[in-house]
Order: sequence, then structure tokens, then C-alpha cells
Amino acid sequence: LVILLSCNSKTSDIGLNISSENPIEHKIDSIISKMSLDEKIGQTAQRGKSSRVKELPKDLKEAVRNGHIGSFLNIMNKKDAKELQRIAVEESPSKIPLIFARDVIHGFKTIFPIPLGQAASFNPSLVKEGSRIAAIEASTYGIRWTFAPMIDIARDPRWGRIAESAGEDPYLTSKMAEAYVKGFQGDDLSSPTSLAACAKHFIGYGAAEGGRDYNTANINDNLLHNVYLKPFKTAVDAGSATFMTSFNDLNGVPASANSYILKDILREKWGFDGFVVSDWNSIIEMVNHGFAKDQKEAAEKSINAMLDMEMTSTSYQDHLKELIDESKFSEKELDEIVRNILRIKFRLGLFDNPYFDPNDSILYDKNHLLSAQNTAEESITLLKNENKILPIDAKKKIAIIGPLADAPHEQLGTWTFDGEKDHSITPLQAFKGDNNYMINYSKGLSYSRDKSDTEFDSAINVAKSSDVILFFAGEEAILSGEAHSRADINLPGAQEELIKELHKTGKPIILILMAGRPITLGNILDKVDAVLMAWHPGTMGGPALKNVITGVVSPSGKLPVSWPKVVGQIPIHYNHKNTGRPVVPEEFVHMDSIPIRAWQSSLGNTSHYLDAGFLPEYPFGYGLSYSTFKYSDISISSSNPKIGDIITVKVLVTNTGDVKAKETVQLYFRDLVGSLTRPVKELLRFEKIALNSGESKQFVFSFSTDDLSFYGLDKKWVTEPGDFKLWVATHALDESNELNFVLK
Ligand code: BGC
Repeated sequence: LVILLSCNSKTSDIGLNISSENPIEHKIDSIISKMSLDEKIGQTAQRGKSSRVKELPKDLKEAVRNGHIGSFLNIMNKKDAKELQRIAVEESPSKIPLIFARDVIHGFKTIFPIPLGQAASFNPSLVKEGSRIAAIEASTYGIRWTFAPMIDIARDPRWGRIAESAGEDPYLTSKMAEAYVKGFQGDDLSSPTSLAACAKHFIGYGAAEGGRDYNTANINDNLLHNVYLKPFKTAVDAGSATFMTSFNDLNGVPASANSYILKDILREKWGFDGFVVSDWNSIIEMVNHGFAKDQKEAAEKSINAMLDMEMTSTSYQDHLKELIDESKFSEKELDEIVRNILRIKFRLGLFDNPYFDPNDSILYDKNHLLSAQNTAEESITLLKNENKILPIDAKKKIAIIGPLADAPHEQLGTWTFDGEKDHSITPLQAFKGDNNYMINYSKGLSYSRDKSDTEFDSAINVAKSSDVILFFAGEEAILSGEAHSRADINLPGAQEELIKELHKTGKPIILILMAGRPITLGNILDKVDAVLMAWHPGTMGGPALKNVITGVVSPSGKLPVSWPKVVGQIPIHYNHKNTGRPVVPEEFVHMDSIPIRAWQSSLGNTSHYLDAGFLPEYPFGYGLSYSTFKYSDISISSSNPKIGDIITVKVLVTNTGDVKAKETVQLYFRDLVGSLTRPVKELLRFEKIALNSGESKQFVFSFSTDDLSFYGLDKKWVTEPGDFKLWVATHALDESNELNFVLK
């Protein structure tokens, strides 16, 4: 024990060698050599305590005292957390500290926009700052491990958990993954304010058939590597301490026992040396999957895939001993699992410093609130702005209407266990708090699913006595998130009806959406003058929206996901394959409301719907500003680069409007001919910068030819010579600035 207490884990250990030269590995060897089999199994167990149970159950304390529990989730009583830790480090046989986990997804107390909104900021440094703040706040409760980031590629907005993702693009999601991991873990994982990150859900969870949560995923190997795995590889490279398996069946083998992904890819190919936790009961659910006849067989399959820790269910605890006795798994292999878990406990500094500082004064710190507001402002995405109705000027009489105008809980969004609605500032409160604005308010509908029109008259009267209507619509928080998929993704309840009634007043309508997913707007888009997507913007949603609506800040969000016109268009991601058929002439898209030529692109695709075409309402990467930007002087370092070269693309961006604004310049590429067909477009780089009115700045994008590679038929990454196109673009369908090169 003396040795244990004197050890010091440093960041320099993170992700580095795990050979016996490494002092931490020595310490782990020494601990493991003295552990009983029961204690080893204990390290694999993660337990929770129901919030309904007030007192810490005696049997839980006893289990910790015997070394039978390695981790807890959701222990939110600080006294309980301290007591459990005390028992673990003072009374248990090997004195191994516990690790306390929680879903700290987009903030702890100070809630930031939902991750899909944070992705819309296209600003990884804000995302990193936000997750650092979440870690600082959560660690005051003894939490040292968050079940985040969720970096599942989400191409189906019916899926409720798209809210928790960074959307449809592997590159954007990778940049977000890196930012979250670095933010949560900080510069030094052993600092008491650092949280171990958990890249989840490994893997394919976002590919649930039909967007129905938990559903089966069938993902062929090329798609798996070229799309779904990419952000997870980035998470390993960024040092993510842990991974979580997903609930889903992946190509017939549930992820929680899938040794191809857990052993061959994660451990062997990527060299991951942290530990993997199951999802909630996901091991024993393999019995329901029809993959194991009972919990014992489920445990056998998961442990042999080297799934290290079991969340909530107890199949390891109940059966590992037997499995070892029957030689279905070896104690030596179990040692490897225990080693993975202890390694992270060491890196977190828990052996030196098992307790925490319950410093409540930093919760909702003013800098945390400011950061949440900045992120919300940068996530707000302007989709439509007819006649420059936005920003509104202060002389106008404003009608504030809608179920989300003053809904402090709903604006926080999904996965906000700890965020408190009393700290939210709603848009109504933000406008009311500013004497410069003349406000009239009527809710119109009590909540987003409300179907009653009893308050319509009052809303219409408020609209009639005003110059402009701010209509706050969308989805309550509960309509997205886990197990909350929707078959239809239009505005729920009677919101569309109310918009139609308000439209009859002749007053301009600015539609502000708060939702966990894109919302199909076909029935009302022509009735509103502007659309601002605010996602679920978090604690500071009100002030952020007010700043955008009144022009203090120009909107700069860009869509991290293609926005369908109708639900039947899904899947509609921009980075799809070409069908082989020529571009469909406009006259053949009989029922399409968008003039197809305006968007005509190399997306060659006759695979369209007669009643909805093949184009989204708004493409990936799309978002308007109060300013305008000109791209000029575009050049490429070489039009004949060689494999191995670094290629640079330069563009001069000028703010040609009247106001200071931010623009996200996007660089897309297409590999025209491949030994495997390649997507019609792939995001390669992006960069967001602020420009004053009239100001120009040069953007320089550099990439290596490795960035053009793909996982090929022979199961290797390959960059193939040949013709490439690049687009310097303001969204995924913008092809006004095209470059070509031939890779030698
Ligand atoms: C979710 C995970 C989450 C876990 C613990 C599960 O139902 O799928 O994402 O981390 O619960 O709360």
C-alpha cells in the first residue's frame, strides 16, 4: 500500500507504452499479483444506486468493502460518494479506488447546446471549452468519468439520439470527438478536475434500421471503416480513456460481444489501452438478441471479446468464476482486463487522490454561463431570411408566441440529468429584461404536442397588435434522445395550424425552432419569413437567441446534417454515392418545389421521388449570415501532386456585407474514379473565422494525400492516383468554386 500511495500518474503516461518499463504497469503487476479472483471480477463490475433509495444500501457498502465493485454510476449524493470511496481505499483488501461515472453530455449544471447544436457551431475550440467546463463542474461531485462523447454517425433524423450526435459527417464528427475528449480530459488526466472520456457507442448504433432506437444495424465493412469508425479512431488518437459498446446487433454479432470490433480493430489495429464498458445491461440483452442462451453464455461471449466492464447487470459477477473453472476463459486473460481498468484509475490519479473537492461555488460560474451563451450563439443556424426581416430593429413591436418561448426545461434538451431549469434564461425572459423592446406575449400552445386551439385567439390578438411575430416552435426535450425516435419529424401538435392562423394576420413571422433534430417544414415554410434553428440551446438559450434576433451577433451556425423536405427522403446525407444515371432534367421532377437547376450539381442522381425530388430542403453545411461573403483568388499548390505530398488550397474570403460576421469555409473533395466507388463529395477541411465588414482574410487549407484515402477491397487504406475535384464552398451543394488535380 505504501508503494501505491506514493505513485504519481502523469499525463505523459496517457496512451504511451504499456510495457513493463512503464512504472504504472509495474504497480499494476504488483497489485494484480495480490488480488483474489473475486476482487478481480469485482473490478469489472459497475453498479448504480436508484435515486429512489435514500440511504446507501448496506449490501452495496459490504460489496465495496469486499472489493466486489470497481465503479459506480449515478451516485449523486456527495456524502455517499465519499463514504463509498473511503470504504474502497481504506477497508477493501487491495485498497483500489472506485471510479464514479455519470452521463455528462452537454454540460453538467451549466447546460450547453445539445451536441448536434454544438456541431452546428463548426467551432471545435468552443466545444473543447464547453466540455472542459462540464468536467470542472461535474468533478465537484466526485465524478471522474463521463459517458461522452457520443460520436455515432447519425444519418437518420428520425433517430432520437441524433440530438446527442455531431450529425452525418465523419470528418466533422471526428473534429468534435477530438474537441470533446480533450476538453473532458484536460491537459492532465490526473488533475482532479479531469474526467475520463468515453467514446460511445461502439459501434453502428446510429445506423439503426429505420431510425428506430436500438434497432439492428447492418453495415458492410467498407462503410464501417470509411464512415462509422472514423470518429472513434480519432477518439483513440485524442487519448479517450474509455469506450462503450452499443446495444445493437451489428451484422449479426451484437456489439457487446463483437471481437472483430473490440479486439481486432480497437485493441490490435488502433492500440487502444484504456478500458471498454458495456452499455446498460447490454451484455445480458444478448439473450434477447438470440445470441446467447442464457446470461452465463452472454458473459462468456462478451468477456472473450475483451469487454472489460459490465454496466449494471451482473453476468460477469455471477458467472466468471465458473467460466474460468470450465476453462472457457482464463484468469490470465482476466488479469489483462483488470489491468486495463487499473491503468485508467492510475492515469486519473485516483490512487493518489481518491477524494474530491465539493466546491459548489464554481457551478454556474459567470464564465461558464458566458461560454454556454457563446456556443449557443454560434450554433444558431439561419435557414431562411426573406427580405432581410432579420435582424429585427428595436422600434418594432414584437409578438412573442409559441410553446418554446418560455420553456426553461425544454430548452435544455435531452440528457440533462443535472441541469436545473431554474437557471435557464428563456427567450421571453431575455426580451423582457431589456427595456429597449416592446413585447407582447401569448403562448398559443401550452407545449409542443398540444393539439388544442383554445389559446389561438389570444395569440392572434397579440400578433395583430404587433409589427412582427417571433414564433418559438419545435419539440419538447423529451421528443428526442434515447428511445425517442419519431416516424414523422414535422412540428408536433397544433403548431403548424397556429402558424397558418398567424400568417393570416399579414404580420411577418420569424420561426425560431428549438428541437433535437431537423424538422420538416414543407407545410408552413411559405408562411414564414425567416427560420432560425436554435437546436435545444441550453441554459443561456434566451440571451443567445435575443442577441442573434436583434443583430448583436450575426448567425454563423451551419447544418451538421442534411435537412429533409419530407421524412420519406431519409436517408438523405450529402456524402452518398452516385447512382450512375445522368442528372435528372428539371421537367421530370414533376412535383418538386425547388428549382432544380439552381442547385444542379455533380450529384448526378435520377434516383428521385416524384413528389420530393432528391434534394434536401437545406443541405449539409448550410447556414445564412446577416452579411455576405465573397470567395476569390482561389488556388491550389499543385495540379499534379504526388502521393505523399502536402497539398494546400488558398482562398481569399471577403466580408462584403455591412456587419461583422463569422463564416465557415468548407473544403470538399471527390475522388472521381476508385477501385471502390467513392462518395459524390466528402468534407475534407473547414475553418471558421470572424471578419469585419469589408475585411478580407486568406484561408489556407492543407491536407496530405493520406486524407484522400479510403478503406479498400483488400481491407487496407489506400490513396489511389487519378483525377480529383475540390470545392471551396459555403455548403455541401455549393459548386461555384471548383478545382481539379491529378494525383500521380
Ligand atoms: C445509454 C448510454 C448511457 C447509459 C448510462 C444507456 O441507456 O445508451 O448512452 O451512457 O445508459 O446512463
